[in-house]
Amino acid sequence: MSDDTIVKAPAIAPPDLDRLVDLVVSSERMVVFTGAGISTESGIPDYRGPNGIWARNAIPTIESVRSDPEAQRKHWEFRRERYPEMLAREPNAGHLAIARLDAAGKVLATITQNIDGLHQKAGNRPDHVIELHGSTHRLRCMDCGREYDGIDIQRRLEAGEEDPRCEVCGGPLRAATILFGESLPKQALQTALAVSQVTDLMLIVGSSLVVNPAARLPVIAKERGAHVVIVNRTATPLDGIADLALQVEAGDTLAAMADRVLAETKGH
Ligand code: ZN
Repeated sequence: MSDDTIVKAPAIAPPDLDRLVDLVVSSERMVVFTGAGISTESGIPDYRGPNGIWARNAIPTIESVRSDPEAQRKHWEFRRERYPEMLAREPNAGHLAIARLDAAGKVLATITQNIDGLHQKAGNRPDHVIELHGSTHRLRCMDCGREYDGIDIQRRLEAGEEDPRCEVCGGPLRAATILFGESLPKQALQTALAVSQVTDLMLIVGSSLVVNPAARLPVIAKERGAHVVIVNRTATPLDGIADLALQVEAGDTLAAMADRVLAETKGH
């Protein structure tokens, strides 16, 4: 299966880049918020979009994973086939730019709707990445909550296990991601809310800001006096409250911005 060809969005205009750089340089508590759009440039489809993987395959629900052996079997088969592809994905210029800013102490936290782990792979400090929808690189026992590394489970699947179970209690395992109909992980949501309340600049990249809490966090930040910048291929419902709303290519934009910001802050 080949990935959909992605037509590049326009490049950022120089005055917009100047404004973006100024906002980031003067920020002391920047929070980055990313959605599927940042990872499509790494060839990762938007899982939940109309052409997403989940739309083209059996959509797992919490009930089906728990009680339907056929759904379970399909789920593991799907994972065994597709996980190596997920593991091989590389962060793009956008992820790397955020990681460089994080390493330079410019980023308070990175909130993401993505489950691909590419911020950590790019070099973001793992404990400063808030994964609102969980991660495909972890699995969790549905009975005792013990977590397993995706690579370890992959080895077991490839060794022929058809339904890998928890080594402690024998309970069923599932990816530590949000399935349809589930609420977001409490801890991640609480941390995301907390950093949104104290940030002075929320930089949103590749989220259409339609579903909660994506739609809510920038509003909270704005109400507390933060600047809001939205970098997305298409217009979002929150462009009206943004100090800067840019419909441009995310990777190139963030790379150009990070180069300038890091050059300017080095002098201080
Ligand atoms: Zn268990």
